[in-house]
Amino acid sequence: MFPSRFRYEAPHSLDEAIGLLHGGDYVKVLAGGQSLVPMMKLRFASPEMLVDINNLPGLAYHRTDPDGSLRIGALCRHADLERSDLLKGSQPTMAAAAPLVADPLVRNRGTLVGSLCHADPQGDWASVMLALGGSVIAQGPGGRRAIPLAEFVTGPFETVLEHDEIAIEAVVPPAKGVRSGGYLKLERRVGDFATVGVAVAIETSGTTVVRAGIALTGVGGSTIGATEAAQALTGKPLTADGIAGAAELAAAAAQPRTDHRGTAEYKRQLVRVFVKRILAGGQPAGATGEPAERAA
Ligand SMILES: Cc1cc2nc3c(=O)[nH]c(=O)nc-3n(C[C@H](O)[C@H](O)[C@H](O)COP(=O)(O)OP(=O)(O)OC[C@H]3O[C@@H](n4cnc5c(N)ncnc54)[C@H](O)[C@@H]3O)c2cc1C
Repeated sequence: MFPSRFRYEAPHSLDEAIGLLHGGDYVKVLAGGQSLVPMMKLRFASPEMLVDINNLPGLAYHRTDPDGSLRIGALCRHADLERSDLLKGSQPTMAAAAPLVADPLVRNRGTLVGSLCHADPQGDWASVMLALGGSVIAQGPGGRRAIPLAEFVTGPFETVLEHDEIAIEAVVPPAKGVRSGGYLKLERRVGDFATVGVAVAIETSGTTVVRAGIALTGVGGSTIGATEAAQALTGKPLTADGIAGAAELAAAAAQPRTDHRGTAEYKRQLVRVFVKRILAGGQPAGATGEPAERAA
């Protein structure tokens, strides 16, 4: 199918882009177009105008700031993150997720920030950024604001972004300790959306977990933060018992539905198994307790 008729603008400055959004009734930002264009072709979305942000200068970065925070610009593509040495060295959860998002064609155009703005319950980046305690920086006519991921997504395909705001970057805060963790995803075929995805981000000082984040993809009406599971890990060393307890709490936080991809109980079991696998893989040397299940 073809999209409905729309006006197309490709401004060269952020102010101009925000002005165009502010002036229209139903105007959408176009970043990688990998979610918006299919939605328009199916006529699930029929905006009157697209504001293509691909000509805006200086938004294609991902970099670590002197304070240790990671900043990902609105035009940083999935493929940039997949190939990033920076992530491989310092962001295990993001490095694990990047090659699992969609397929190479989509990864060449799609953006992490666009994925957060799209707020698909099956989007991989929202779970990763939620587990990492990330936030989105939005800019509108009234200035800039930082929105924690935990408050950014309000439901399936819904965020707190105003119609005239552009998400200019996503930010991962500096680590309080040594990072470990990962992202595991069950997909029916390579390139599919997640049947179940689990993001785990751990920061350890010595053997003590000083910060933990766990978030779930595809097992609820929106991205789910398994906050009780994460809290259960914090302030103590990782042990087999602790890992098993966190896996149970994460499975309890999931709200899966039975569908053509599997039963609700099957998906809940996958959450349990994925949490255990990631945490067992990230168990720091010297941690006490029974040996835990190893990541495959
Ligand atoms: C075949 C296929 C398979 C896919 N598989 C997966 C998958 O396995 N996992 C996964 O996570 N995703 C998957 N996707 C989605 C893909 O990751 C998209 O790239 C992503 O969801 C949206 O990023 P985008 O840059 O393409 O955004 P766009 O499509 O350009 O925009 C998406 C939405 O976000 C808004 N938006 C985008 N950027 C901004 C911004 N900076 N400020 C304000 N609003 C903005 C747009 O207005 C629109 O509403 C798949 C897509 C396809 C086509």
